[in-house]
Amino acid sequence: MNTMPRGVDLVNKKILLRCDFDVPVVDGRIVEKFRIRKQKPAIDFLLKQSAVVMVAHISAVKSFKDVLPEIEILIGHKFEFIEDLENFKSKVEGLVSGQLYLLDNIRNWPGEEKNDESFAKTLADGLDLYVNNAFAVSHRRHASVSAVTKFIPSYAGPLLEEEAGQLGKVINAPAEGKIFIMGGAKAKTKIPVIKNFIDKSDSILLGGVVANDILVKRGIDIKSSVFDSDFEELLIGLDTGSQKLILPEDFIFSEDKILDIGPKAIKKYEEAIKDAKMVIWNGPMGLFENDKFAEGTDSIARAMSIMDGSKIIGGGDTISAVDRLGLLDKFDFVSTGGGAMLAFLAGEKLPGLEALEYYK
Ligand code: ADP
Ligand code: MG
Repeated sequence: MNTMPRGVDLVNKKILLRCDFDVPVVDGRIVEKFRIRKQKPAIDFLLKQSAVVMVAHISAVKSFKDVLPEIEILIGHKFEFIEDLENFKSKVEGLVSGQLYLLDNIRNWPGEEKNDESFAKTLADGLDLYVNNAFAVSHRRHASVSAVTKFIPSYAGPLLEEEAGQLGKVINAPAEGKIFIMGGAKAKTKIPVIKNFIDKSDSILLGGVVANDILVKRGIDIKSSVFDSDFEELLIGLDTGSQKLILPEDFIFSEDKILDIGPKAIKKYEEAIKDAKMVIWNGPMGLFENDKFAEGTDSIARAMSIMDGSKIIGGGDTISAVDRLGLLDKFDFVSTGGGAMLAFLAGEKLPGLEALEYYK
């Protein structure tokens, strides 16, 4: 994989930088700033010698227009906002080093999600280099991640390199002493990771809807709890009776629904975390948005924050849960990727990395 900044002449170059600004926005305010903060080092570095056009998407609002001042504060640079692609080429051709542009929500153009080549060419036209610094979208075969690399020399940004390196370490670390904690709701993205690591870890501790799916499969009555209707299909190929899969032994119920793991499960999980050499956690243990059902999730966050071994987390909700306890800086690595991290850990090839020849 071609990586920045090594060996590339950046002086006076015009760079198309795929950033990750996909943050949650509530009442016009950015409520989780972690992802934008992680973009700052690459922007700082490139701007010292080059001009930079930032391209990114956001799902919470239609346009970046609503959150521009907050983004400027978080990255520590003022920029010019480009709302449409009219005269894009002549605009970018006039750029000089130190200048910064942000193009509006790239997913507003239909060519983006179609990985459309002529759209990708429009983005690349007039620019010298492309840098992908958006690990969290690198599992998407989209124009600003994939097709664009056909038109100008393309490199991995520092964040892509860091993510691939850190998650590569998770894959390569010995099974002994390595545990996974998997919870949350999107079982479809999580079960492939469980399948990939069941033989390459000591155990997998489960919570959330992912646990419910396996409980149902084992024939346990979970009353009205949420589970995936296609659980049978999702679990194909996983030995759901395996002793390595650790299910909660008690729960917090509300109106016949499991909404958190119970005190016995918490104690058992805390013990396992304490003795582990490496813990990888994705997905809250319960409906942590409600304080009444946050104890399981909070206990995992606290236990991990004081463990000696290496501690890695990822997933938007998992990061929010840890951040609200003020514990984010206690972790060895916090992945900006939710789906991308899970796809990487499931052993899938990510189109964004493939385009940069990471796997060669
Ligand atoms: P992440 O973003 O960290 O990958 P997910 O998006 O997969 O995590 O899941 C987080 C969501 O799962 C939260 O909104 C949480 O309330 C929900 N959740 C966790 N446990 C349960 C449960 N037992 N029942 C219903 N929802 C749950
Ligand atoms: Mg989530």
